[in-house]
Amino acid sequence: MDLGIKGKKALVCAASKGLGRACAVSLAREGVNVTIIARGKEALDETAREIGKLGVDVKAIAADVTTPDGRAAALAACPDPDILVNNAGGPPPGDFRNWSRDDWIKALDANMLTPIELIKATVDTMIARKFGRIVNITSGAVKSPIDELGLSNGARSGLTGFVAGLSRKTVRHNVTINNLLPGAFDTDRLKSNFAFTAKARGSTPEAMREARLAAQPAGRFGYPEEFGELCTFLCGVHAGFITGQNFLIDGGAYPGTF
Ligand code: NAD
Repeated sequence: MDLGIKGKKALVCAASKGLGRACAVSLAREGVNVTIIARGKEALDETAREIGKLGVDVKAIAADVTTPDGRAAALAACPDPDILVNNAGGPPPGDFRNWSRDDWIKALDANMLTPIELIKATVDTMIARKFGRIVNITSGAVKSPIDELGLSNGARSGLTGFVAGLSRKTVRHNVTINNLLPGAFDTDRLKSNFAFTAKARGSTPEAMREARLAAQPAGRFGYPEEFGELCTFLCGVHAGFITGQNFLIDGGAYPGTF
């Protein structure tokens, strides 16, 4: 299927590794020119080199997307993108009794307010050009809360509520906004969660990994490439009638009928 987005410009946040990287690579395979943002320069440059081999223009910006300066650098490198993929590291796990107001503000900044700021900075030019695709990487935790990730459960639900409203206003102009909700994908983030739960439960990260794997209906964790391909479909021309949706991609881990 030709997704019809060859030559478009995408800004992909937190894209040196894991799910963000997979989205950037998949978009580049469709001929989209990508600007990728991440904090660590080494992994970022390596990802940019890989993407460059796909024959598209790639810009790599080493910046923290959760800061105003980081966002300004991203937008300076990719003004007026046709496609925006919002992503940032998830908040740390823990017990809500230990979280200060500052901890909450950091989580809200990263996983709610940063995507909203970037949407604010880009959506009106998308509307003017009558094409725009915005995909927010959130979490399965929005649909089914994860015990130790209360900061994530809360902050991402705030973004989801905001997007539910805005996405109905933009679709008339062929600008869609959707959320992708990953379940367990084999990335650095998943490994760090195993390390935390192992410590909290007096176990080992390997035992935590085995237990989580045993609970997966698919019998495996997700491959980041699978995530990237769904993101790219949502960014394509054929997805113009899909907006305000929350797509779980979790190998059946969420047990509900709907
Ligand atoms: P990852 O740790 O593999 O990769 C994170 C990427 O984000 C890296 O490129 C890192 O450099 C970049 N990054 C982090 N914070 C940044 C910031 N402030 N500014 C710029 N770049 C930043 O993580 P992942 O597994 O790809 O997860 C992506 C998102 O999806 C996270 O918010 C995570 O919490 C969420 N998530 C992941 C899973 C999973 O199973 N992997 C499940 C649910 C939700």
